[in-house]
Amino acid sequence: MNYYKHEKDHIYYSDLYDRHTVTIGRLMDKDLKRRKNEPLKLFKARKAIHDLCMYFWKGEEYAKKDKQIQAWISEDRRKDELLENSEQLKNIHCLCCNKIMKCFDKSLRERYGHEYVFFMYSCPDCNSCRAFYNDGTEYRVKPAKCKKCGSENVKKSTKKIKGELTVYTKCNKCKNIDVYTYGNIEEKKDLDFAKDRDKYCLTSEEGQEYIQSNKAVEEMNEIWEKQKRRRKNLIKSSEKRRFRDEKGEFVL
Ligand SMILES: [Zn+2]
Ligand SMILES: [Zn+2]
Repeated sequence: MNYYKHEKDHIYYSDLYDRHTVTIGRLMDKDLKRRKNEPLKLFKARKAIHDLCMYFWKGEEYAKKDKQIQAWISEDRRKDELLENSEQLKNIHCLCCNKIMKCFDKSLRERYGHEYVFFMYSCPDCNSCRAFYNDGTEYRVKPAKCKKCGSENVKKSTKKIKGELTVYTKCNKCKNIDVYTYGNIEEKKDLDFAKDRDKYCLTSEEGQEYIQSNKAVEEMNEIWEKQKRRRKNLIKSSEKRRFRDEKGEFVL
């Protein structure tokens, strides 16, 4: 039985991560552009802060990339293993002709916050279908109802315009028509993506450079913090000495 494989090649996850980074980068730049009408001095200061933030953000996006990709791969691998090892329910009979049905698809579904394997069966004789969760619970499709009068005497039709899918549910009793549109179901072309990827996603050379320089800054910070603690302790102990000198005894 074929089923949807979750785990993909590494490049799929890498592109997915970059697409996310480009989306966030574009939003941040858009936010800056919206403030272009501010007084020049203020805008320049804002842009300087923005550029600095972008530098660290791009570096951190690169630094987190491998770990995120590994997490995605492990999660998809876990799903594939769960599907591979799940046994279909046997002896499912067709409700129309009582023939043993054939399982033709399995997938993962969430129900009440838990993950289940979902099996779909079809009848080799009359093509009727049934579906079950791996705990044996049957999935029963509820008949479509009119939202206005509750009648089940409805007719569904669909229309696809410019990549948008619209579903019309027409009630034969009260003549109400319910309209639902599923956004744009066709992949939009993103002609600026390659250019923006260069802008927001560091190459491995740039990324490694960022990680190294960030390490140096962290080390400097550590040394600075140590120095600060040492100086504090020195001041404290010299104050203690002075206190004892003036009063002749040590009290804190
Ligand atoms: Zn049948
Ligand atoms: Zn109705």
